[in-house]
Amino acid sequence: MSGLWYNGAATLEEKKSKSIIHPFAVKSYNGLTINPYQGCGHRCAYCYATYEWSPEFYDKIYAKSNAPEVLDGQLAAWKSNTIDPVMVASATDAYQPAELRYGLTRKCVQVLQKYNVPYYVFTKSAIIEHDLELHRQYRHNCFIVWSVTTCNEKIRRVVEPGTPPASKIFETIKKFIDAGVCCGVNVDPIMPLVTDTDEELDAVVKSCKLAGLQHVIGAMLRLRTDIWERMKLALRMLEIPGGVEKYKQIYNFGEPLDAKYVAADEKYSDKVIDDLERRIKSCGMSCDFPDYMGSRRMDRSHLGQTTLQNFLM
Ligand code: SF4
Repeated sequence: MSGLWYNGAATLEEKKSKSIIHPFAVKSYNGLTINPYQGCGHRCAYCYATYEWSPEFYDKIYAKSNAPEVLDGQLAAWKSNTIDPVMVASATDAYQPAELRYGLTRKCVQVLQKYNVPYYVFTKSAIIEHDLELHRQYRHNCFIVWSVTTCNEKIRRVVEPGTPPASKIFETIKKFIDAGVCCGVNVDPIMPLVTDTDEELDAVVKSCKLAGLQHVIGAMLRLRTDIWERMKLALRMLEIPGGVEKYKQIYNFGEPLDAKYVAADEKYSDKVIDDLERRIKSCGMSCDFPDYMGSRRMDRSHLGQTTLQNFLM
């Protein structure tokens, strides 16, 4: 795999896809997702989407140029009169820089809206601001989540060098909130010794509060073989004293790490998450997302009446 800090811009290539909307599962949640791009220029060290089948994940971005048409065809042929909310996107950032050139996410969102499908977007980007009006006009049926890991620019430039600074992201969030769009922040992943300090958690939670957010959640970093290789580099670049050895203790493994996923020690993890939640609550926000990611379904026979907002009540 090429380095995280590869100097050139990612190359963009178009490809055709036969299918766009797919089922996916994360932990106990099963849902639907669309991924208009393959690969991601945000280059996060901790990325869970860097599958082995895509070793050029950060450097070669495929734009699925027929995604809107294929999605339209799939929704037109949908067999059931119900549909789960759709995640935009599960294995890439749908608002990464390639979106400025191809606009595929915007076109796919227009198709979802055409079929009255509820959706939620997970992004680390401010590019979504270009579609503020599009999401605003559908605000009762969508939910936008920003993943924010740090307000510290030195850390961000190392662990997620392709993302915008947190200050820019919070400006964007505020615009969405002011427009009445339901928004949340996912402080994920929280990286031990890097972003789990008092200073770091405090800065992120206070920025959420200032932006006007109501919903904030967080989760600890999980390690996998490839993620560990990148995190080792990040720990060294950030000059975290004894970082590599301390990670082996916190995650309780020895080299080589050969496991699908390794979670941090439960006590360590609970302490950090409890700390985060205490800060969120003390700022008057809630440590959850609106309850629409479960198995509730939109009844497509009542298009225009049953909205995501109904699910949230
Ligand atoms: S934004 Fe998401 S998909 Fe893109 S590199 Fe970062 S973690 Fe991976």
